[in-house]
Amino acid sequence: MEYLKKDIQYLKGVGPKKAQYLRNLGIVTIEDLLYFFPREYEDRREIKNIARLNNEDKATLKVIVCEKVVEKSIRKGLKVYKVPIKDHTGRGYAVFYNTPFIKKILKKDAQLYLYGKVKKAFGETQILHPSYEFIEEDTKKSGILSVYPLTQGLINKDMVKFIDHVLETLHIDYEYLPKETIKRNRLCGLYEALLNIHRPNSVKKLKIAKFRLVFEELFILQIGLWLIKNKLHQNKEFILFHKDKKVDDFIHSLPYTLTDAQNKVLEEMIEDMTSRKIMNRLVQGDVGSGKTIIAFISLYLSVLNGYQGVLMVPTEILAQQHFVSAQELLVPLGLNIELLVGSVSKKRKEEIRRKLEDGEIDIIIGTHALIEENISFKNLGLVITDEQHRFGVRQRKILSSKGINPHVLVMTATPIPRTLGLILYGDLDISIIDALPPGRKKVKTYCVQEERRNDVYEFAKKEILAGRQVYIVAPLVEESENIEAKSATQLYEELKNTYFQEFSIGLLHGKMKPYEKDEMMIAFKKGDLKVLVATTVIEVGVNVPNASVMIIENSERFGLAQLHQLRGRVGRGEYQSYCALINYSKSKLSKERMDIMQKSNNGFMISQKDLELRGPGEFFGTRQHGLPELKIANLFKHMEILKQVQQEASFLLKEDPSLSLSKNIDFKNKVIEKFGDHIKKICL
Ligand code: ADP
Ligand code: MG
Repeated sequence: MEYLKKDIQYLKGVGPKKAQYLRNLGIVTIEDLLYFFPREYEDRREIKNIARLNNEDKATLKVIVCEKVVEKSIRKGLKVYKVPIKDHTGRGYAVFYNTPFIKKILKKDAQLYLYGKVKKAFGETQILHPSYEFIEEDTKKSGILSVYPLTQGLINKDMVKFIDHVLETLHIDYEYLPKETIKRNRLCGLYEALLNIHRPNSVKKLKIAKFRLVFEELFILQIGLWLIKNKLHQNKEFILFHKDKKVDDFIHSLPYTLTDAQNKVLEEMIEDMTSRKIMNRLVQGDVGSGKTIIAFISLYLSVLNGYQGVLMVPTEILAQQHFVSAQELLVPLGLNIELLVGSVSKKRKEEIRRKLEDGEIDIIIGTHALIEENISFKNLGLVITDEQHRFGVRQRKILSSKGINPHVLVMTATPIPRTLGLILYGDLDISIIDALPPGRKKVKTYCVQEERRNDVYEFAKKEILAGRQVYIVAPLVEESENIEAKSATQLYEELKNTYFQEFSIGLLHGKMKPYEKDEMMIAFKKGDLKVLVATTVIEVGVNVPNASVMIIENSERFGLAQLHQLRGRVGRGEYQSYCALINYSKSKLSKERMDIMQKSNNGFMISQKDLELRGPGEFFGTRQHGLPELKIANLFKHMEILKQVQQEASFLLKEDPSLSLSKNIDFKNKVIEKFGDHIKKICL
């Protein structure tokens, strides 16, 4: 199928100009065009009568323009053009906005097909911004019309024509999925799928085509990820750690005993690192489940084996906090620990860089600053990223490339359904810390309408008088960190001068200088500050066990998973803790969401619900994770198909682990093509 790889310019009817427009849509080759699927379909098989239209219908009409277009100015910059139309049952208007050329095109007596949404208003039947086609010009169009995404310079007719040309050249045997995969999953052939996704003549055929194409896309993604994983695990050059009794001594010296859940995960990790494979493991554990200590223990093991370890986190506050705890625990054991964040002075950075290269530093903790090009290690053995959901695969890979096949551990508190985990973390083994340390009291959560804000503050005061501390989170402002900082500052000023006059109160937001943030966090940790007004900079990881109240203003603006993370900042010690969600919205959806928060403390359940209510959002944007783009499949919407895909993928790879059998070669090439150089290096 060499033809498909050709530049789009070689397609019949596409000149240099149109080729450029197509490129603007991301279509570079003829094949890209073939996989450029319709945005929606207009079912024009049934022509409706004007007299029988209902409000909000989407309908096809066959009409005559019965009078001149009426032009009206509604306000500055908005002109409406009403085209009087009729059929044998009644009259109505086709309504267009700001399209003066309509006057010239839709002249009296023109015969048209119209397709669009019906609006009944002021006793009129209107059809809003319909697409239109002249009857004499095109007689065959009364079936299902494919509507493509467009850009400047291209109209839908162009797209239909171009794609028709490609479809004409396509061979009926065009296929790359393994025959057995097609059979086992009852997929239609590729030719049929492409034909019917572009030119369906029934809804049923369209469905069959879609299923096949969604299946294929997810299948390629899953197989690719598993090929990478298998290969990684077979890698010859691995770092072999040995168990060390000192690790057990360290564990026994901790002020608490590890939970069974922690022990199990730790065992799985140590098994990886001390056997003939490279660890590539994801540890999922709800907020407060005790992931940090697991990280420290494995870093210690690395150092005992003569290797350096690195821990990367998404915020400076968290880095600082981990650094302090790591120092407390590990410096007495003779380890050299350093902190590297963006705000470290140039001179100091230089020194750290040198010491890392010389091997004088055993463990380094830091932020993105760690992946800068000029940072290198003497012998990196273990790479850990905490709160992995804030990083992309690429950043993780850059960090591990600073060693020779180091062991990799990623930790996250944002739980996702297993099926999705197999995709997003498809190259990782997964461990789950599925229990919290004993004695944790469930955080009591209350949703409060804003009128009762006073009561919440009164309650918080009582807790402070009993020796506890309070977080107050300012409203989330998505557009800008500046506005967010401002709103936090305002809230802080208000509370300082009213409710919390008699207490020490601090402010923390992303726009403060790093050292200011540090000082604030340290003061809160030490208990010098009783109240901390903050933005979501405290969302991940922050650990102050004495804090027992979390108040979240405008809670309706946050995602549920995010609220759960914020709530996880309290209830980290022995005290009964409370979370007040101050809700400014009266909508049913926000009530439903706040109800979930009140009822559940289970992060898995909450993020699942969040996905259901809000959709997958950009969390599942595969691009950001460095994976092939999904054109038709949706990881969340097509979860059921994904399950089927995973079954088939493991079936296929069991039979042919590296897809080297000749019957699977076409498919393997397709996978490599989709993943690009990344997988090529690994698999060829
Ligand atoms: P997260 O999983 O959210 O990162 P942390 O590692 O910050 O949680 O742990 C939360 C708190 O629980 C910390 O104060 C930590 O010292 C404590 N902790 C961890 N493991 C245990 C345990 N087995 N028993 C009691 N407390 C523990
Ligand atoms: Mg943590």
